[in-house]
Amino acid sequence: RDPNVKKPEWLRQRAPAGERYEKLKDSLKELKLHTVCEEAQCPNIGECWNGGGDGIATATIMLLGDTCTRGCRFCAVKTSINPAPPDPMEPENTAKAIASWGVDYIVLTSVDRDDIPDGGSGHFAQTVKAVKRLKPEILIECLTSDFRGDLVAVSTLVNSGLEVFAHNIETVRRLQRIVRDPRAGYEQSLSVLKHAKLCKEGMITKSSIMLGLGESDEEVKETMGDLRAIGVDILTLGQYLQPTPLHLTVKEYVRPEKFAFWKEYGESIGFRYVASGSMVRSSYRAGELFVQNLVK
Ligand code: SF4
Ligand code: SF4
Repeated sequence: RDPNVKKPEWLRQRAPAGERYEKLKDSLKELKLHTVCEEAQCPNIGECWNGGGDGIATATIMLLGDTCTRGCRFCAVKTSINPAPPDPMEPENTAKAIASWGVDYIVLTSVDRDDIPDGGSGHFAQTVKAVKRLKPEILIECLTSDFRGDLVAVSTLVNSGLEVFAHNIETVRRLQRIVRDPRAGYEQSLSVLKHAKLCKEGMITKSSIMLGLGESDEEVKETMGDLRAIGVDILTLGQYLQPTPLHLTVKEYVRPEKFAFWKEYGESIGFRYVASGSMVRSSYRAGELFVQNLVK
């Protein structure tokens, strides 16, 4: 962390609690599911798993292994140029576990797999289809890589039966090179999100921006405007936190009032909803907010 930038008290971790949370935690023990919620010790687990007033519990599951072919400077995931090949049984086994678990909204995500010809899109699509076959009422969001800009791979996934296609642009245009792996890029991410919106009627798209990396307000507005211009429906904004001393330093701890401002601003320019707050992550209360803002 930049020694001049002190971590403020509003970032204190909250202890998870709640009846539904306890139930999901207990039943997860018997299932072979890797939740990002538990494995990354996400501070939102109590809120997401309890599902708030509407009872829509959200959890995030990791597909395609734990090793990424890219190396973004904000991310602590391990990297390799040739990770273990994907498990062909993963789509079916993951679907069985999800269907028997009792969560209402599932976010499927993965590391980037530039070593697989379709970037893993077929594997994702198979998983979505298997979950929907076993439990049609479950809502599915896929939070994916950019598939190196491969729009056929994007179409395969978008047409698999999911409710929300999410891809994170991560930061403003100027900081892309500093923050993300050089194989990622602003225009490429926009083209993926644009295609996802166009290749299936009614597709809901979603993206996320981290704040605190040195971006200006004007740059954040530009990025929000660019996302709206290609029809992105949902936006999340959260504070960047440095995972280890080897990662990018935090330039600023954005104040809660500023996050509230961004929510209001984003909704004023047409996002269906904006989740904005220091601890907000891309999948934060995703099911609950989806049902509140896009279904009712
Ligand atoms: Fe899980 Fe995402 Fe919620 Fe964290 S924000 S608890 S990773 S669903
Ligand atoms: Fe982390 Fe995703 Fe970047 Fe891989 S592509 S290093 S998982 S942020």
